[in-house]
Amino acid sequence: MTQTPSQSLYIYNSLSGEKELFKPIHPDRVGMYVCGPTVYSNVHLGNCRTFVSFDLVFRYFKHLGYKVRYVRNITDAGHLENDADEGEDRIAKKARLESLEPMEIVQRYTVDFHETLAKFNNLPPSIEPTATGHIIEQIEIIKKIIDAGFAYEVNGSVYFDVLRFNQSHDYGKLSGRQLEDMIANSRELTGQSEKKNPQDFALWKKAEPKHIMRWPSPWSLGFPGWHLECTAMSTKYLGQQFDIHGGGMDLKFPHHECEIAQSEASTGQNPVNYWMHANMLTLNGKKMAKSTGNNILPNEIFSGNNAILSKSFHPTVVRFFMLMAHYRSVLDFSNDALVAAEKGFMRLMAACQMLSKIDSKETSSWDVAAWRQASYDAMNDDFNSPILIAQLFEAVKYIHRLADGTESLNADDLQLLKESLHAFLFDVLGLENVVQTDSGNKLAKTVELLIAIRNEARTNRDFTTSDRIRDALKDNGIILKDGKEGTEYVLE
Ligand code: AMP
Ligand code: ZN
Repeated sequence: MTQTPSQSLYIYNSLSGEKELFKPIHPDRVGMYVCGPTVYSNVHLGNCRTFVSFDLVFRYFKHLGYKVRYVRNITDAGHLENDADEGEDRIAKKARLESLEPMEIVQRYTVDFHETLAKFNNLPPSIEPTATGHIIEQIEIIKKIIDAGFAYEVNGSVYFDVLRFNQSHDYGKLSGRQLEDMIANSRELTGQSEKKNPQDFALWKKAEPKHIMRWPSPWSLGFPGWHLECTAMSTKYLGQQFDIHGGGMDLKFPHHECEIAQSEASTGQNPVNYWMHANMLTLNGKKMAKSTGNNILPNEIFSGNNAILSKSFHPTVVRFFMLMAHYRSVLDFSNDALVAAEKGFMRLMAACQMLSKIDSKETSSWDVAAWRQASYDAMNDDFNSPILIAQLFEAVKYIHRLADGTESLNADDLQLLKESLHAFLFDVLGLENVVQTDSGNKLAKTVELLIAIRNEARTNRDFTTSDRIRDALKDNGIILKDGKEGTEYVLE
């Protein structure tokens, strides 16, 4: 484990509804599974928020020195249009509409997904398995569930028998639903349904003649139910019991509830120790979603090409905007919120630059170690990134005081501050110092040019021009400071 202060990490477990001390199954190792995207269209910003949330979790565990196996799947078959096992396969439908092979759709949107997450500086998972690559494993699990008496076959399809399972297990324990309520609230099955009860869900579906994505099985030429792929892939790569399972809040029911049922029915074991659910990104107060069209695409934000935006924003600023909210809080997207995030982000980057020029003194007037521990405490409290960011702004305040000499740090404390700030900003939060790259460099050069012109004007006693430059920069959040060594600038 790397050198980090005293660590007791607490995680909010959706299963218990409480923050629990994290105890890995294997010392110093973490096994984590996160449900990946269904690759039938471009990922919207809401999807990205969930993956950024789990990237933070992945990064923090790595930062603490854990060896993490992070498995995130690609759903490339089996996800039907609605959750009640009805409708077309989402990928097959898109393929039909565009006259393409389903795997062309899968390829196109998997590439988009990878490119988009890379722009947000998300680390790739350790393993990224696909549903179609694990059909055999899914069939094996169905056989076990049938043998255990918790599934039945009808006309070549296999359904999970929820009522039977609930006699000896607790179906609904994750989502906090009671089966009796679900039964009371469900509609009668129509005569066409093969299910014994509306709560049952498909493990295997016989393919209709027009359903082109199909595989041989003991029951029919068909395809697996959506919930099954995650049980198959998590068990294969992380074992029958593993540490963390994550996904968006909207997957808690039925998807994750069904995953628990499938695992318990096939292995007799509760599969997951900590269930983590990331909350939704909203637009105009409503959940961003592909299906309703209430969404914004990451590339629209990076190019500024959307009527609700006043300008373009760098991906790292958008990432910062997301991390300014706790992963379990709802976050509403707006242009104003992005503008505010950009301002804050620039302040942090400017402070980093300022810190690199500060010299140590004999003594320290500020307790950096205590600040650092408080920053870890924030992350150890269920990955509380907004509190960590508040801590970073506290450091900014001190960096300004160190620069103007009202506070001092000795050499060791100064080094600790530099290393900690760097680690929190870039390793843990995964931000990128774009101010020191491309556009940041161009901006710096432009400001320096303006400072030179202002100084020339002052030498020529042309105070109208020099004041005009100073005021215009100030209006844009760039403050000039005249000192013995010349003129410096800081971002407000
Ligand atoms: P999907 O491709 O629809 O299966 O979604 C991929 C991931 O994005 C899942 O974990 C969803 O829970 C998550 N997700 C979908 N919509 C949103 C949203 N508006 N905000 C946050 N996460 C979302
Ligand atoms: Zn899943």
